[in-house]
Amino acid sequence: MDLTTLERLPLWIGGKAVAALTKRYGDVTNPATGEVIRHVPLASAADVDAAVAAAAAALPSWRAYPPLRRARVMMHFRELMLAHRKELAKIITQEHGKTLADAEGEVTRGIEVVEFVTAIPHLLKGEFSENVGTDVDSYSLRQPVGVCAGITPFNFPCMVPMWMYPVALACGNTFVLKPSERDPTLALRMAELLAEAGLPAGVFNVVHGDKEAVDALLAHPQVKAISFVGSTPIAKYIYETGTANGKRVQALGGAKNHAVVLPDADLDFTTEAIVGAGYGSAGERCMAISAVVAVGEVGDALVERLAARARRVEVGPGDAPSVEMGPVITRAARDRIVGYVDGGVSEGARLVVDGRQPGIPGDGFFVGPTLFDHVTPQMAIYRDEIFGPVLCVVRSASLADAIALINASPYANGTAIFTRSGHAARRFQQDVEVGMVGVNVPIPVPMAFFSFGGWRASLFGDLNVHGMDGVRFYTRGKTLTTRWPDDGSAAPGFHMPMLG
Ligand code: NAD
Repeated sequence: MDLTTLERLPLWIGGKAVAALTKRYGDVTNPATGEVIRHVPLASAADVDAAVAAAAAALPSWRAYPPLRRARVMMHFRELMLAHRKELAKIITQEHGKTLADAEGEVTRGIEVVEFVTAIPHLLKGEFSENVGTDVDSYSLRQPVGVCAGITPFNFPCMVPMWMYPVALACGNTFVLKPSERDPTLALRMAELLAEAGLPAGVFNVVHGDKEAVDALLAHPQVKAISFVGSTPIAKYIYETGTANGKRVQALGGAKNHAVVLPDADLDFTTEAIVGAGYGSAGERCMAISAVVAVGEVGDALVERLAARARRVEVGPGDAPSVEMGPVITRAARDRIVGYVDGGVSEGARLVVDGRQPGIPGDGFFVGPTLFDHVTPQMAIYRDEIFGPVLCVVRSASLADAIALINASPYANGTAIFTRSGHAARRFQQDVEVGMVGVNVPIPVPMAFFSFGGWRASLFGDLNVHGMDGVRFYTRGKTLTTRWPDDGSAAPGFHMPMLG
């Protein structure tokens, strides 16, 4: 089905596209033009019920598949995602606004999680102790938790859902995805490709919607686990409500990521890295750098270079060649970001590069790269997650002060240090209280075979996404203790059955 020509998107339930029962629909906008391009159903509790019922019905047979057979479906899915990655990137760019290269990059990162779970027979292995007592052995198993739900943000419509469902499915669970209502189409295309890869009907379902659909998932007795990625206030709400309803929950929240630059850093390399991490995807990444802590005398030289490079960032529609930064997601997001910039000026920060009027023709939601210097920790531009292309330089006297500043932030998703000193880098990695740390790496995003997640207000719950934490989240441990005394029944001539 050509989803991009549909005026009203369907849901995906029981292995096929179905019209939603809800009467409520929302607009999906192309942020580069400001045009409404299609409408998304805002699912009702009855829609959610139908999706959960399909997932529950599919569970017994899917969880009985040998893990290797589930892995083979994932291998096939990987090939399809690779073959379609340009088409998928176009859908992302049309609804999200990021550049095509960035969109393709997120598809690739999502595929890496699928590659990780193709090893699921190995990842599910338990432990075994022989002879814990006479004729007694003990061993452990990991079993699926049941119907799982994923609730995801707008900023990575491909990659963030893929932090979740490949792991959940490979572990033998069934899944209901509630993607962001702002860029909902990609989830349906992934559902089609999963079906083409041989995933049985009902194992993966998509409900579109807003708070009503989310609340129905949080309250549904058949949903056993909820993975959430989004802003901190909603993450906290999801965690508190989901756990109060007896579900296991991992809820990843917002971020305010700092890059520390020491005076001995390679400034050209650092500038390029910070500009990419601050303005890439218009700053709408949970691992975007938004605060730059310039230590000691490096400040003036760094700000000069950052400003020169920020002014050269090419802003425009994400599908235009040579564009480095697309629009932000909505008109409201643009107005909010511009409001923060106004506020920063009135609070006394020095506005070095002003992106409030980037001069792009048309009605797209563009904000240009923006750079503030002499920002203080009291200012709203420093404290709040702006989630836009705004870099704030804070001056700091020492590495110790920089670390103290970062450790005082409520957010603790990612951070990075730029230095040539191994000693300073080591001290930073030991003392900084943040979940993901980069050394001369601006966006320290763990690979699929590690787990991803921040600390403090950036993660509610105990287990990160993907990697071994993902496998633990989507499985329950069971420990067996077995005794098989010799009752003489192993008769002579006993043959092992053929395997397979
Ligand atoms: P959001 O919190 O507004 O929405 C996330 C999801 O929650 C969406 O599916 C949305 O429909 C749903 N939702 C929104 N309001 C709700 C409500 N009142 N009740 C129940 N559900 C609700 O986030 P967003 O604007 O889509 O995404 C941006 C945010 O996500 C940023 O804060 C960013 O830092 C964060 N993020 C974090 C990570 C991470 O790894 N920690 C990754 C990506 C994005």
